[in-house]
Amino acid sequence: APLPVPQATSTTCPYCGVGCGVKATPDGQGGAIIEGDAAHPANLGRLCSKGAALGETIGLETRLLHPMVRAGDGDLQRTDWGTALDRVAEGFRRVLEAHGPQAVAFYLSGQLLTEDYYVANKLAKGFLGTANVDTNSRLCMASSVAGHKRAFGSDTVPGAYEDLDQADLIILTGANSAWCHPVLFRRMAAARQARGTKLVVIDPRRTATAEEADLFLPLAQGTDAALFSGLLVHLADAGALDAAFIDRHTEGFGETLAAARAETPDAAATARITGLPEADVARFFALFRNTERTVTCYSQGVNQSVRGTDKVNAILNCHLATGRIGRAGMGPFSLTGQPNAMGGREVGGLANQLAAHMGFAPEDVDRVRRFWDAPHMAGAEGLKAVDMFAAMARGEIRALWVMGTNPAVSLPRADAARRAMAGLDLFVLSENVVGTDTAGCAPHVLLPAVAWGEKDGTVTNSERRISRQRPFLMPAGEAKPDWWALAQVAERLGHGWAFAFETPAAIFREHAALSAFENDGTRDFDLSGLKDVSDAAYAVLAPVQWPVRATPEGPDGTARLFAEGGFFTPSRRARFLAPAPVAPAPVAPGFPLLLNTGRVRDQWHTMTRTGLSPRLGSHIPAPVLMIHPEDAAAAGITGGGLAEIVSAHGRVVLEVRLDAGQKPGTLFAPIHWSGATASDARVGALVHPLTDPVSGQPDLKATPVRLAPV
Ligand code: SF4
Repeated sequence: APLPVPQATSTTCPYCGVGCGVKATPDGQGGAIIEGDAAHPANLGRLCSKGAALGETIGLETRLLHPMVRAGDGDLQRTDWGTALDRVAEGFRRVLEAHGPQAVAFYLSGQLLTEDYYVANKLAKGFLGTANVDTNSRLCMASSVAGHKRAFGSDTVPGAYEDLDQADLIILTGANSAWCHPVLFRRMAAARQARGTKLVVIDPRRTATAEEADLFLPLAQGTDAALFSGLLVHLADAGALDAAFIDRHTEGFGETLAAARAETPDAAATARITGLPEADVARFFALFRNTERTVTCYSQGVNQSVRGTDKVNAILNCHLATGRIGRAGMGPFSLTGQPNAMGGREVGGLANQLAAHMGFAPEDVDRVRRFWDAPHMAGAEGLKAVDMFAAMARGEIRALWVMGTNPAVSLPRADAARRAMAGLDLFVLSENVVGTDTAGCAPHVLLPAVAWGEKDGTVTNSERRISRQRPFLMPAGEAKPDWWALAQVAERLGHGWAFAFETPAAIFREHAALSAFENDGTRDFDLSGLKDVSDAAYAVLAPVQWPVRATPEGPDGTARLFAEGGFFTPSRRARFLAPAPVAPAPVAPGFPLLLNTGRVRDQWHTMTRTGLSPRLGSHIPAPVLMIHPEDAAAAGITGGGLAEIVSAHGRVVLEVRLDAGQKPGTLFAPIHWSGATASDARVGALVHPLTDPVSGQPDLKATPVRLAPV
């Protein structure tokens, strides 16, 4: 009889925050045939190089297949799940008894599914009594979260990807979307072809994105807020404000405008601060003033800064002042880096949040406590990522569970993070591959997690769209879902009654029910239309943008918010916020250059998956340093040679690439390579630990360094 034809499974790409729909069909040889899902609203069938290569990256060669535990100071030994989970539960029990809940921490990942994230937050914040739950999303979009909350009273992205199709002006600031959000960038290119949409790119580097711009503004590093404050003043002086919107739906405009006027009274002052030609500043101002359908997208160049939250608010100010928010083809748009940074935010996956976008106000704490019937509810914010690892280094945090991330490579002062993890009383690592740098930091327990293709749950992309990740492969070896391992540990600690989840659908229902619990419309995150979703309906759940409310016709999503006000502040008005004056560039004696870090087109994070594809590796095959030719000449370095880069925190050796698009005095190095993939190439080891005072997001864009030929 003929073999049955394998069916394609509709799932979601596990890489960037665009959240593209994927059709995956197992090829019978351990790989899969991958196609873009034409029915998915995020990508309409398109995929970038990383998504298209997914089928090449799902083999078992590097997978962690079995639980492992360490006996004393010895090596990790294979064991069974029961023994490993007993060890985890016993370790947490001992630390809790000896040192209390503040000595326990979880460090999670924007790669986790929402269901995994939800269970981790419930266990830590409701049952262990610690809010020390942070994630690599702190490195990605915490400043956007803080900016949204300051302005809107909630962490709400107002618009939808459709707005990019309908805009007449797209501004990309601190976002190399051609490489980092490629499918969205293609969507922008299609709009430019179809309707002549203009593209402005604001970035200190001449990136691949900048090459496509109608207007490129290579501003001085860290001056974005001044550029947008200058724009606000210009809009006011040119009579281009939406006075009715400001009057009806906002507060704080007068003070904010006055503060902006004090720093950037006109285009000339803005040009001086930003280092841009005055004519280009004036052209940017005029483009914004004259184009109602304007979308301003921003990403890590804005967020990863000591003034990240202020930069976000400076952008939001301009959209609020013109009423260009929540309407077709217009609005501010945070482009999230990771596939489920948004889903993590929704379940409280940050140390300063509780589930369902609640915070640590006493009424929120009490509401979540009652919903969970939680015996040990955390009552105050926990430690954010950089502070969490510093507390670990001081011996204040004694037990840590890391899930799906590689902080030994990615955190600022990565060498210090390594040492901190290696000194813990209990270090648990859930991973799906072997040999990561973090796995080299002496974990006591290694737990094998299911990977993309095996996972079952949901993720949320940058436009608030919840999509399913569906399995099409059997779990590798003994790999299990992270939510299952967390629930097993909860049971061993006496909380099994609250973690008796049998399926991801059951977790999703509880998550949705919490979003609706005592929600009278004053909280933005609302999945009331999905709180009773059946297992069968969850299995076929179509991509939908929250809030999702119940209607007689069924659950109904929401494309846009705030066109008619309705913000989530106590007054229901949006707040204008005056950014602090531009911070001086960091200076460290003996370190005259500033190092900027970021992504390359064809790699993802620390390359545990994309590194398996030779096709992806051919784009940039080795860790590199981009440097302006004048800086290279001054340091006696030639293109193609090796250079040693040294900061106050570490050193790496990288291959030099001369790049005239690099601003003199600044360097750029990709974040992807690690000790596991190339010796001495962990640029995180160089990065300083400065953070934004509001969001706690690290400044990964401006570390003082020096360099020398090798
Ligand atoms: Fe995946 Fe992002 Fe590429 Fe889409 S744009 S295929 S989500 S990496």
